[in-house]
Amino acid sequence: MLEQMQVRDTRKRPLRDLRISVTDKCNFRCRYCMPAEIFGPEFEFLPQHKLLSFEEITRLTQIFTALGVRKIRITGGEPLVRRDLPELIRMIRKIEDVHDIAMTTNGSLLARHAQALKEAGLDRVTVSLDSLDNERFGMLNGRGYPVDAVLDGIRAAAEAGLGVKINMVVQRGVNDQDILPMARYFREQGHTLRFIEFMDVGNSNGWKLDQVVPSSEIVRMIGAEMPLVPVEANYFGEVASRYRYEGSDQEIGLISSVTQAFCSTCTRARLSAEGKMYNCLFASAGYDLREPLRSGRSDEEIQEQIRAIWEKRDERYSEERLDETPGLQKRPKVEMSHIGG
Ligand code: SAM
Ligand code: SF4
Ligand code: SF4
Repeated sequence: MLEQMQVRDTRKRPLRDLRISVTDKCNFRCRYCMPAEIFGPEFEFLPQHKLLSFEEITRLTQIFTALGVRKIRITGGEPLVRRDLPELIRMIRKIEDVHDIAMTTNGSLLARHAQALKEAGLDRVTVSLDSLDNERFGMLNGRGYPVDAVLDGIRAAAEAGLGVKINMVVQRGVNDQDILPMARYFREQGHTLRFIEFMDVGNSNGWKLDQVVPSSEIVRMIGAEMPLVPVEANYFGEVASRYRYEGSDQEIGLISSVTQAFCSTCTRARLSAEGKMYNCLFASAGYDLREPLRSGRSDEEIQEQIRAIWEKRDERYSEERLDETPGLQKRPKVEMSHIGG
């Protein structure tokens, strides 16, 4: 029996959430995440034997819960390209201390899997969609996927009884003209739409600050057409600031990772598909947990290792970006498709 404890890092932040990347592969080539010229036919993705098995992921999740984790998010790459994903959800669902299981997906394969995911115990999905314009969306996803495939996925998820939120990454001069059409559409559909500031994740997306549309600008833009009222935060560490449309409970959210960093309440650890633990989305290096898993260490020993990693955690990259910490942009960073969003 593992000893239950709430571990905290050097900045007193508890470990509460675990984001698990189940694959580094994806059927999209979004320019800001896996640009096709880098992630082309020659690119070497992880071979199967280097991926954590479902048993290994479940075992680690159990150990993480003994250190305080209560919320799990399945991500990638595109999680739905990993075979038999509902089986993993079923295994994680059996862990008593897991209170919430969510998944982030590009939605293209969701129509096919929504029902099985719900039956396996998934609570919620966040579907990424950056435009309702077919041509622009096809360009953004780098593979010409149509918007309708994603909208079908969203519909299937809602019909299956999954909680649904939509994430839109906004880039100035790329899809800022889609902000209002997206807001109108998802207001009518009754789904919360969250606007994400474009981030300088990884080393391959050519990020520049002037491509970021600050959340404050988005709130002004939407509010001018559909008046908005601010909503109080639900819980410690909630990353989105929320607004509701006047006269209704229908909400939007804004994730201002660039203009209003929220590192001081960041309670998230990340686990890559090959079993490395990362303390921050912008980390340069991870801590290997696969080797200890495969070399016969006990749960207690691995728990001790994770505890030590979290207790040393000092990362606050987005706050450093705001402080304009010298040399920050030159530090190498792990790619987003490797550790998930
Ligand atoms: N493939 C899934 C998807 O697209 O939802 C899950 C993985 S994806 C890396 C997770 C989230 O990260 C997506 O919502 C995506 O839009 C977001 N993302 C990727 N690159 C980003 C960037 N440079 N800035 C902000 N968000 C980004
Ligand atoms: Fe794939 Fe998601 Fe990255 Fe787009 S954002 S390339 S869908 S992993
Ligand atoms: Fe958390 Fe790192 Fe993002 Fe800050 S920059 S909120 S520490 S993941």
